Amino acid sequence: MKLYYYTIILILFTVIVAGCSSNTQDTETSAELKIYTSVYPIQFAVEQIGGESVTAESVYPPGVDAHTYEPSSKDITSIAEGDAFIFLGAGLEGFAETAADALASQEVSLIEIGANESLFHDSGNSSEHSHDHKSEDGHHHDHNPHVWLDPIRMIDMAEIIKKQLSELNPEDTEQYNSNFNSLKNDLLELDKKFQETLKSKVSKKIVVSHAAYGYWEQRYNIEQIAINGLSSNDEPSQKELTAIIDQTKEHDIDYILFEQNSSDRITEIIQEQIGAKSLRIHNLATRTESDITRGDDYISLMEKNLEVLDQATTRRDE
Ligand SMILES: [Zn+2]
Repeated sequence: MKLYYYTIILILFTVIVAGCSSNTQDTETSAELKIYTSVYPIQFAVEQIGGESVTAESVYPPGVDAHTYEPSSKDITSIAEGDAFIFLGAGLEGFAETAADALASQEVSLIEIGANESLFHDSGNSSEHSHDHKSEDGHHHDHNPHVWLDPIRMIDMAEIIKKQLSELNPEDTEQYNSNFNSLKNDLLELDKKFQETLKSKVSKKIVVSHAAYGYWEQRYNIEQIAINGLSSNDEPSQKELTAIIDQTKEHDIDYILFEQNSSDRITEIIQEQIGAKSLRIHNLATRTESDITRGDDYISLMEKNLEVLDQATTRRDE
C-alpha cells in the first residue's frame, strides 16, 4: 500500500517536471503545433483534425465582425511566434493582406485556404444569381468567401487543412487522416439533414442582413434576399432598399434573419417597415461569448441554423 502511494507521488512529480520543462515559453499545453486562424470554422477544423497535437486560436475576439475587425500589432506578434497562420483570403478578412505582408519575413507558415480556386467553383448548378452586390468603392468581389457555410465545401476546406497539418507535422499524418475521415462523416451527415429538411419547402426565400448565404442557394435552393452585400459594410442604396421591401411583401415573408455578430440598423428599419418577426441566423465567422460558454461548435451551430431555416421557410398557409 505504501509503495503504491509513493509510486503515485513519483508519477505526479514526473508529470509536473515534464510539464514545466516544456512550458518555458507558453503556458498553454505541450501540443506540437500552435496554429492561429482567422474565422471560427478554420479553427474548428484545425482542432478536429489536429486533436492533441495542436492548439488553435482565432485572432478574432468573440462576436466581432470578421470583415472589418483589425487585430492589434500585439496579435500580429503572437501570430509571428506560431507555427502557422491559416486564413481564408478571397477578400474576406479586411486585415489579411496587410498582415500577410508583415508576416512574410517571419518563420510562421502563411496558409491561405482561398488560394484553392476550386473551393469557389464546381458543385454543378452554380448559375450566378442576381444579387451580386458591388461595394460602394466599386470594388467587385470575385468570389463569395463564405465557403464554410456549405458543409460539402467545409469538407474541402478540412482536406486542405489536413494536408497542411501533415506537412507541418508529418509524424502525426495517420492520426490526421483518421480524424479528417470522422469529421468528413459528420459533415456529410449535416448536409443530409439540410437536404432532407429543405427539399419539400415551397418557398425558399429568406431575408438576411448580409449576403453570406450564397452557397445555400447552390446547394439547397435557398434564395437569399440580402440587405447588405457580400461584406457586411456594403450598404444598399435607397433604390435597392425599396426593391427589397417590395420583394418581402410580394412573397409574404414573415421573418428577417439577423446575424450573431453584427447589429444592423438598416435591417432593423426594414423589419419595422414590413412588420416581420426576427430570427437569428449564424454566419459562423466568429462565435459569440455565449456560444463558447454553451459549448456550441460548428456542427451544433449549423444544426441551429437549419432549425431557423426550417421556420423561416414555412409559410403561414402550409
Ligand atoms: Zn460575411
